[in-house]
Amino acid sequence: MITLDQHPSGRHFLQIPGPSPVPDRILRAMSLPTIDHRGPEFGVLGKRVIAGMQQVFQTRHPVVIYPASGTGAWEAALANTMSPGDAVLMVETGHFATLWQKMAVRLGLEPEFLALPGTCPDTGLPLAWRHGVPADLVEQRLRRDTAHRIQAVCVVHNETSTGVTSDIAAVRRAIDAAGHPALLMVDTISGLASADYRHDEWGVDVTVSGSQKGLMLPPGISFNALSPKALERSKRARLPRSYWAWDEIVEMNATGYWPYTPNTNLLYGLAEALDMVLGQGLPAIFARHRRWRDGVHAAVRAWGLPTQCADERLHSPVLTGVVTPAGVDADGLRRVIHQRFDCSLGTGLGKLKGRMFRIGHLGDCNDLTLIAALAGVEMGLKLAGVPVAGSGVQAAMAHFAQPAAVA
Ligand SMILES: *Cc1c(COP(=O)(O)O)cnc(C)c1O
Repeated sequence: MITLDQHPSGRHFLQIPGPSPVPDRILRAMSLPTIDHRGPEFGVLGKRVIAGMQQVFQTRHPVVIYPASGTGAWEAALANTMSPGDAVLMVETGHFATLWQKMAVRLGLEPEFLALPGTCPDTGLPLAWRHGVPADLVEQRLRRDTAHRIQAVCVVHNETSTGVTSDIAAVRRAIDAAGHPALLMVDTISGLASADYRHDEWGVDVTVSGSQKGLMLPPGISFNALSPKALERSKRARLPRSYWAWDEIVEMNATGYWPYTPNTNLLYGLAEALDMVLGQGLPAIFARHRRWRDGVHAAVRAWGLPTQCADERLHSPVLTGVVTPAGVDADGLRRVIHQRFDCSLGTGLGKLKGRMFRIGHLGDCNDLTLIAALAGVEMGLKLAGVPVAGSGVQAAMAHFAQPAAVA
């Protein structure tokens, strides 16, 4: 813990699934002097970061950048496309899906919250929080909506509270198979630039994302990637909006400017992050995250602890949710690991409070920082008296020491 007169020795291990560690290179870029946001240099920066973000979202259509956390971009997605009282179909996959659904209620929409039914026999926890979006249930629900009341299907791509990803292309296919005109809106706040994501190819109408996860930036900027259909829909949507309104922003963005003061220094950081991300190439970044996931999984398996994600094909490349044995308070364990080893792990959110902890493996980490983080967890498990079957660190080392696949 950092106090004013004391700095811990060495790096803090920020092993939560966002904010993720910010590389020095990005921090340095952000320390450049703030410039006139109406001046000639700014337009160059603005156009550069927007074009870069289009590559990251894999879209040819407008990307809107807000000086706001991800929650702001959630609100923007709904406020720009919906009208008061509109029905939206949202899917309960965890805590973040639940927060977005609550926001829809507060904005005066009528969300229907679809969830995989049932509870887990061994933990009593909802099955919906251990699996991805059930595309078949989405399709069935849309088929029954013959009057096309439902205006949008809203899902979370990488559920940061559970460590489960969802198959977004399958959700698109479900909407199309039902012949339904609803918009598809996707939160990939924690997935972007870590897990494969294709806005155009997957037919997403609005994608929501944020800066402080895969993009390795501090919190403070967020994004909406749009489709022509979403832009069209926004012309007749009647929810009040002003700050979030796409029309003025998209118009001014054409020359690299904003209608208000954008987050200049965070945009320097974004330009730097984009150089890093696009320089390495998205496929290499996705492969690296999958490899980290598999290494962390090897460790969790060796400890003999269950992962929150119950579907082998949907394990998040960004984080792993680890369920603690009955009677072990996951937050107590996290506290021990933080106090003794200066390592922060993600807490159990919402329905999972105290039942699990989350290990972030995203952004600016590498094999050795992950092994160190896993060592912190393993020592913490022992200190907290949690029986483990074997050494997760050994298993992760064995995983990471495999000969590299030839690209
Ligand atoms: C982090 C996160 C959010 C919340 O974003 P804020 O920047 O905290 O407002 C929403 N959804 C998901 C999936 C997230 O991971």
